[in-house]
Amino acid sequence: MFSIGLTGGIGSGKSTVADLFTARGVPLVDTDRIAHQVTASGGVAMPLIAGEFGDDFLTPDGALDRAKMRTLVFADDTAKARLERIVHPLIRAETERQRSRTGGPYHIVVVPLLVEAGDWATRVSRVLVVDCPVDTQIARVMKRNGFTREQVLAIVAKQATRDARLAAANDVIVNDDATLDTLAREVDALHARYLAYASL
Ligand code: ADP
Repeated sequence: MFSIGLTGGIGSGKSTVADLFTARGVPLVDTDRIAHQVTASGGVAMPLIAGEFGDDFLTPDGALDRAKMRTLVFADDTAKARLERIVHPLIRAETERQRSRTGGPYHIVVVPLLVEAGDWATRVSRVLVVDCPVDTQIARVMKRNGFTREQVLAIVAKQATRDARLAAANDVIVNDDATLDTLAREVDALHARYLAYASL
């Protein structure tokens, strides 16, 4: 089935663009949301995470203690790898299950770390990158999340560079000083192209 992998750095505007495709009736599978589901209270990853890291990394209701785990994995790449060995296969399985159930001529998979993690580029028909300068990412995420400039920079530094992401792109939406109207027009044009490709 024809599919688009949608990616971009933190604050680039992935969710904003994804919403515009949804408004045009395109089915969406969101890997971030799936990652939250598998690590929520009762999520399939939780018994495995408790076994690997101990109950200290669980909230009282049995969800992943995200703040605590974030602190650990930010400082310790081994812990990050241990966590990823557990959650990545579960996210992948649930993503594929949801993708197989989408109807319509094509679907979109939102994958924040498409360039950084795994073999995503081979699992979608095209890669769509939402791109903007790092300064714009910083300003947006400071405003959206109340983070400091340094906090945003630390996250950006852990992600792929802008160049690496653009090198992986088949299509690019530049979302710097775009208005919602100009973004919507770009999405309209891409949607028309994707419908044409999907019917080939
Ligand atoms: P991502 O999903 O890539 O982290 P979002 O789509 O959530 O990014 O966008 C980050 C923040 O910036 C959100 O608060 C969003 O409303 C805002 N934003 C996104 N694109 C624009 C734009 N073109 N102009 C102004 N604000 C924007």
